[in-house]
Amino acid sequence: MAKRILIHCDLDAFFASVETIHHHLDESRPLIIGSDPQNGHGRGIVSTCNYAARKFGVRSAMPISEAWRRCPGPPMGEAIYMQGTRGLYARASRKVMQILQSVGGPFEKASIDEAYMDVTEAVGGDWDQAIKCCTDLQQEIHASLGLTASFGIGQTRILAKMGSEVNKPNGIHRTLPDEIESFLGPRSLREIPGIGPKTSTKLAEWGIETIGDAMQEGILTLGRHVSERFAEWLFQVIEGESSNDVSLLRSRKSIGKETTFPKDLMDEELVLEHLDSLVIKVMEKARKEGISGRLGEVKIRYKGFETHSYGKSIPVAMDDVDVFLRISRQLFAHFVQSGRPIRLIGFRLGNLFQSSIKQTTLDQILDASLEEE
Ligand SMILES: [Mg+2]
Repeated sequence: MAKRILIHCDLDAFFASVETIHHHLDESRPLIIGSDPQNGHGRGIVSTCNYAARKFGVRSAMPISEAWRRCPGPPMGEAIYMQGTRGLYARASRKVMQILQSVGGPFEKASIDEAYMDVTEAVGGDWDQAIKCCTDLQQEIHASLGLTASFGIGQTRILAKMGSEVNKPNGIHRTLPDEIESFLGPRSLREIPGIGPKTSTKLAEWGIETIGDAMQEGILTLGRHVSERFAEWLFQVIEGESSNDVSLLRSRKSIGKETTFPKDLMDEELVLEHLDSLVIKVMEKARKEGISGRLGEVKIRYKGFETHSYGKSIPVAMDDVDVFLRISRQLFAHFVQSGRPIRLIGFRLGNLFQSSIKQTTLDQILDASLEEE
């Protein structure tokens, strides 16, 4: 089968860049978007921040008080704190997605600031044209919105995704089919989207730190150290096998759990703890039944029944709890509207793939799976 040419586009520090442009801010000043820090006494969380703030170790979903400790605002420091304007991001995202879709061909929005495109036909199978395509898109996005975006080009979603991380911000990286081993070899296992910190730490204890180390150990040894399934998965990734070939479940069903609070909660840190425990339960269930997924979705219901769902998909199906904990925390942090009482929180694993068990059993499990706790 002819190789596909896939592109992953990732906007650089998206929310922060939109705010910087909108308010004409100096981008070298740390900018932290999140709930009111109340001079370090706030109980909310960080939604996201710009590169200048990341240098101080500020991260999405971190308590806002911790962010203030690392990087205070006036009068103690020069960081800018703001609540953020969700409507602005949605509008900018829609415009970017339109620009990306103008290329034509299969398109998948992975989150508010990320998308995958299969440009094989659009570029006539020409890898040089694929670079040209990315340069054009970068220019068009910058011209119409002032934003920068990074692109990765590869024959699988995961190679494209890893490529877009290489030269951030405003970067382009292409991995040709015969460069896969040399591209992946020196990289740390942690850089593979979908490998959680627990797995990579376990492998590091055996001296396996880079993807090259893992390749050298071989699939059998790796299987003994972690699990056979994981080893097979990793070698598929390394060999550039398309994750699209795995059998996607027929239906669009998902596994999910949600919690309705007896009393509406105002404390974002506390809601985040509830969300963590839902994710752990969902992923335990998925793992037990041999199901993995590519989509994590967080549902937030505010007082008065207003409900929103926010999703993010990853390049390959995974059943690693750490991966989905990170995704769900990020989604919650990015999208929760600070200061509004929350009635319900939920998590759903979607775009499901099955590894081993029979379809009939699986359907029974899924039918019974959306429970309220
Ligand atoms: Mg981004």
